[in-house]
Amino acid sequence: MTMPQQIKVSDITDESSAQTYLDQMVMTTFCRVLDTSRLPPVVVMRLLASALGTTYREVAVAHQDGQCPCGWCPLPAIDIETLRASLEDAAALKRADDLGTMAVAGRA
Ligand SMILES: [Zn+2]
Repeated sequence: MTMPQQIKVSDITDESSAQTYLDQMVMTTFCRVLDTSRLPPVVVMRLLASALGTTYREVAVAHQDGQCPCGWCPLPAIDIETLRASLEDAAALKRADDLGTMAVAGRA
């Protein structure tokens, strides 16, 4: 399996490079925990999803009542639904016969 070139945190310039960096970090972390814990993969996946939820909650709390100058106002119901949709979208197995994704799948 050929890995794409690793990107460093200093390479993050936009949403796309941020996604690539986070994909690498989460995969690396997942594999380390899987190897070390010997827990079943689906258990480690659930722990990862839980960690993301915890991260959301802590960041949202830090942004309540204008505590952060960045101005983000958490909207938990909408934000959590967006996170859930992102997880489902990214996790769904892509159909090999889907012409729209064939080129991408062939290079993955
Ligand atoms: Zn902020």
